[in-house]
Parts: sequence; structure tokens; C-alpha cells
Amino acid sequence: MRPLAILGGTFDPIHIAHLAVAWEASELLDAEVRLMPAAVPPHRPPPVADATTRVAMLRAALRGQDRLGLDTRELARGGPSYTIDTLTELRAEEGDRPIVLLLGADAFAGLPQWHRWQALFEAAHIGVLSRPGGARAWPAALAEEVAARQVADPRQLHGQPSGNVVELEVTPLDISATRIRSLLAAGRDPRYLLPDALFDDPALLAPYREHALPEQLP
Ligand code: ATP
Repeated sequence: MRPLAILGGTFDPIHIAHLAVAWEASELLDAEVRLMPAAVPPHRPPPVADATTRVAMLRAALRGQDRLGLDTRELARGGPSYTIDTLTELRAEEGDRPIVLLLGADAFAGLPQWHRWQALFEAAHIGVLSRPGGARAWPAALAEEVAARQVADPRQLHGQPSGNVVELEVTPLDISATRIRSLLAAGRDPRYLLPDALFDDPALLAPYREHALPEQLP
């Protein structure tokens, strides 16, 4: 069965690396990929743009293609978005269909801080997207969890609903939303780092341009 893969994130704002890695993951896994914006991310400071604006940016960015979808269930649920709750909900909907949680290498290395992190491995497969800049070593507990689950071929994930970990080598793009927020707050216009459509409606990027305290350019 063709897997369902989920790329969660704050998408504050969505940038071209999100789109590129999601697209490449869908090719490597032969999966349907959905981008899933988080409401109140438990692991990080609140987003600069509100949920409505972040969804409007995602919709604008995804227009005109049919490989990447949008799933706004975490915003509808409200409260903290725990990934384990989302995966439990998806499992109830999808039955035995393979589900793949996509995580950038930086996010994956921080997994042991997540709520009920070990349960995530039973609820879904995990696809770790290569990401430049963050060659962080995996904490021992994470490496131990991965050891028995790791597979080399992304297509092996088609064979069972959950439980494997695969590293997905995607084109390295050293782009982060943090840097884009800093550029916008500094009055710059990072046109080719963001999907074109975000520049069509000035209201979409206004929250970043008006953001009072620019973060340091990383
Ligand atoms: P911020 O700079 O605000 O932390 P971000 O650019 O990391 O944002 P998120 O919305 O936090 O974007 O990312 C959602 C998911 O996409 C995470 O799993 C993250 O690791 C992954 N991701 C984001 N940018 C890249 C990239 N350039 N290459 C690979 N994965 C990425």
C-alpha cells in the first residue's frame, strides 16, 4: 500500500526547502506527503505568524501541484500538538496503511525530548531527512532505539504499517525559517528562498516585516 507521509512543523514561514524535501521524500518513498502545521508547538517559542496566516501561506505555496497536500488537524484540535496523538488519530483512519513521520535530521536528533517519544516508533515509520549544518550525533538512547529498526531502502517501508527508520538523502538546502524571519525583520526581501506566491499577498509576510526584535542572523 502506498504510504502516507507527514511533514510536521511550524512553517513560520514555509520556505522552499520545506517544499523541496517534502517533494523528494514523496519520490524516494513513493508516498503521499502531507504538510501538517502545528498549533502550539510544545518544544519551541510561539510562532511569529498566527495559525490562520501560516495556513494561508501553505495554501498559496502548494497551489498548482498535486503531489503535496495539507492537513490542518492539529490546528483544529487546539492545545499543544503532540505528534503521538496525531499519529494515533491517523492510524485509526488509515488502518494498516504505512504511515511515515518525516523529520529533518535536526528535529530527529531532539526526539528524546518529545512527549512519549518511544511510542512514536510503534505508531509510524520514521523518515529522517538529511539537512545541512546540523551533523549532530544522535543521543545514545535514540541510537539504541534506531539500531534494530533501521532499513536502507525507502521502499521497504511499504511492507508494514510502522516500526522502521530510514535515512532519506535529499538535496542539501541550507535554508531555515529562522534566517528568513531575520532577513524580513531586517527589511530584506528573501524572494528566492520563499515560494513566489507568498509575495503576491502583502498580508502574508507582514507579521515578519513588522516583527519588533529581529533575531540574530544565524
Ligand atoms: P525554524 O528555523 O523556525 O526552526 P525550520 O526552517 O527548521 O524553522 P520547521 O517548520 O521547524 O522549519 O521545519 C519543519 C520540518 O522540516 C522539520 O522536521 C525540519 O527539520 C524540516 N526542515 C526544515 N528545513 C529543512 C531543510 N532545509 N532541510 C531539511 N529539512 C528541513
